[in-house]
Amino acid sequence: MVDLRGKRALVTGGSRGIGAATAILLARAGADVGIAYRSRSSDAERVLEEIRRQGVRGWGEAADLRDPAAVDRLFARCREAMGGLDIFVANAGIWNAEPIPLADMPDAEWREMIDTNLTSVFLTTRAALSLLSEGGRVVIVSSTAGQRGEAFHAHYAATKGALLSLVKSLCVECAPRRITVNAVAPGWVDTEMSAPALQGPERDAILGTIPLGRPATAEEIAGPIVFLCSGLAAFITGEILNVNGGAVLCG
Ligand code: NAP
Repeated sequence: MVDLRGKRALVTGGSRGIGAATAILLARAGADVGIAYRSRSSDAERVLEEIRRQGVRGWGEAADLRDPAAVDRLFARCREAMGGLDIFVANAGIWNAEPIPLADMPDAEWREMIDTNLTSVFLTTRAALSLLSEGGRVVIVSSTAGQRGEAFHAHYAATKGALLSLVKSLCVECAPRRITVNAVAPGWVDTEMSAPALQGPERDAILGTIPLGRPATAEEIAGPIVFLCSGLAAFITGEILNVNGGAVLCG
């Protein structure tokens, strides 16, 4: 049903967690897949081995996506490796477990979050639009925090909320090229990012906020992302797909 043979995909943050699971699932569906990551090349190499095991092309590039020159290099590599792009998944991001009241938020902390979670999506999506084919797909990974906020993580929530309005704006701009633009908004997901919280003393309190009683696996977020990249989702654009075990009953 989901057949992405002949499609060319790029996933940011593809070395670990949700991005790695998405890259591997795209490859299983038949797409050639490039992954971008910040620095952890041995993790990226493991993901690339799994991608190539599916019989498709896989390539990786270390690129700090806060840096416009690194983004330029990434997309030059993308053009060289695949000649174009059909699917772009903007997934790379950070979240700091340490709670910081806004009143005490250092400028550097705020800027790092905005640069990593928001400006990087602007830089990469803008570059992806110049390569994307007619009928292409953009999926941006937001968060429940983007819809309901996250006290003591206001900088994170602000970036994820901004991504939702980016999606709403961009979907209209891209419609003439039949490119769909959607967001996936995960709740708690069992990855390295959330480990300090999910393995800490507040674990039971967190699980109590999830009707399904557990965090998602990375693969359970990858499935909805790949759905939005597939022909099954051809008429869905400007949407937020909530994947949170019932934790945010709005959408
Ligand atoms: P993760 O396991 O911490 O992986 C983060 C990925 O982003 C890694 O591939 C990392 O590369 C890359 N990355 C981080 N900063 C980067 C930068 N400056 N430039 C380029 N790449 C960078 O995270 P995850 O849990 O899979 O999260 C993926 C996305 O889902 C994020 O946008 C996150 O906000 C969102 N999300 C996660 C959860 C959750 O509970 N985990 C919930 C809601 C939303 P390296 O491996 O090289 O460091």
